[in-house]
Amino acid sequence: MILKRREITIPGEMTAFECDVCRRRYDPTTKNTYDGLQDSIEVNEVHAISFEAGYGSVFGDGNTVECEVCQHCLKRLLGDYMRVQERETVDEKKDQDVVKEEKN
Ligand SMILES: [Zn+2]
Repeated sequence: MILKRREITIPGEMTAFECDVCRRRYDPTTKNTYDGLQDSIEVNEVHAISFEAGYGSVFGDGNTVECEVCQHCLKRLLGDYMRVQERETVDEKKDQDVVKEEKN
């Protein structure tokens, strides 16, 4: 997980972060909650975007692009476009893959 700009390291523990969209700071050392979840859980669901833009990119050729987004903002902004598979479906697929490997 890439958290460079707003990283706050807690020795041996999870990392706090600030969402680049809502600017909420998620700090696992607190008892703060958001939508019923404690920050100690929320920090595991941060989504980080980090890449170097290529030729023709709307972000500018060779520029570095980074963004950390909390799960709530990610869902609000892109949720309608995301393909979400239920866990059972993923587990069933893994089981099928194991059977296929055993047969080979
Ligand atoms: Zn957010």
